[in-house]
Amino acid sequence: MPGVLAILEQRGGSVKGVSHEVLSAARSISGEVGGDVHAVVVGPPGISADGLDADKVFLCLDDAFELYQADSYAQVASSLARSGDYKAVLLAATSMGKDLGARVAARLKCPLATDIIDISGSDGIVVSRPVYAGKAILKLRITWSPFVASIRPNVFPANQSGNAGLVEELPVPDGGKDSAARTVATREPERAALDVAEASIVVSGGRGLKDPESFRLIEELADALGGAVGASRAVVDAGWRPHSEQVGQTGKTVSPNLYVAVGISGATQHIAGMRTAKVIVAINRDKDAPIFRIADYGLVGDLFEIVPKLTEEIRKVRVS
Ligand code: FAD
Repeated sequence: MPGVLAILEQRGGSVKGVSHEVLSAARSISGEVGGDVHAVVVGPPGISADGLDADKVFLCLDDAFELYQADSYAQVASSLARSGDYKAVLLAATSMGKDLGARVAARLKCPLATDIIDISGSDGIVVSRPVYAGKAILKLRITWSPFVASIRPNVFPANQSGNAGLVEELPVPDGGKDSAARTVATREPERAALDVAEASIVVSGGRGLKDPESFRLIEELADALGGAVGASRAVVDAGWRPHSEQVGQTGKTVSPNLYVAVGISGATQHIAGMRTAKVIVAINRDKDAPIFRIADYGLVGDLFEIVPKLTEEIRKVRVS
């Protein structure tokens, strides 16, 4: 019996890591509402369902679906959600998921809970989501079936141990390739490394770095840790870094295992995007900087002295 439909995300023909988090959150919800976990992947031919912990995986594959196509993806997912009579539809609150979730909910005429960080069940499903720039957590009891929900990346465990029970190729629904607007190309950011919103380690730099060249220190520390580079809005507005790296209220929301804030004061709008990081390390020469109020570890001092030494020590540990 269908219970929860997980909409998975692919890039370049491979299922993205965040999709395993969607599957584990889908299992939590199916534990409450009952029924199986089904998953759907829309993408180019050749995508495999191997390693996807779902009772059934639908693959809707077509050359036209290589890039995210808003209308087409929404039509495939909502047709399946409707015909399968699911109680919940789940996806990740990534750039794609934020767009697609709203479209699917509108097509299904059902509620949408975004950016959820917890799921519990007593007398119905209760989901939690941060509000007011992360200052409060809102708990929502969902009484409508079906509902659509997006989960914040890096919060739910990624379940990569299971395997797809059944795999079914899904035909492209009628009109599934018709669209008023088509994505024709995407451009990777220059440093085509990790997406700051999905990385498990993020090293962010702020105005304390003084100039764009000094961001080399941030890149080297991020490389040594195997993480992504983030930035405050001050340096993005100054044109030092691309907007894709901005963390905060008007940038990306991140929940990595480790967040290192270097030369960042810790304005409310910055903290809104990273306060759910599991461990926060702050490096700032001002001992009263607000970032220290939420930091687990604080280093008071000159970043130009601290960061190179830290990078050197981390390299030694990682090599040995
Ligand atoms: P600053 O506040 O100038 O802080 C620089 C820090 O570096 C200081 O704490 C200083 O002590 C330290 N420093 C200086 N030199 C050194 C040194 N040598 N060694 C160590 N430390 C040093 N901001 C965001 O980041 N993200 C957002 O999404 C965002 N959205 C916003 C939305 C709105 C509507 C508004 C009004 C603002 C928003 N802001 C956002 C801006 C935010 O209010 C701050 O202005 C910004 O975060 C400050 O960036 P910063 O910490 O890099 O710079």
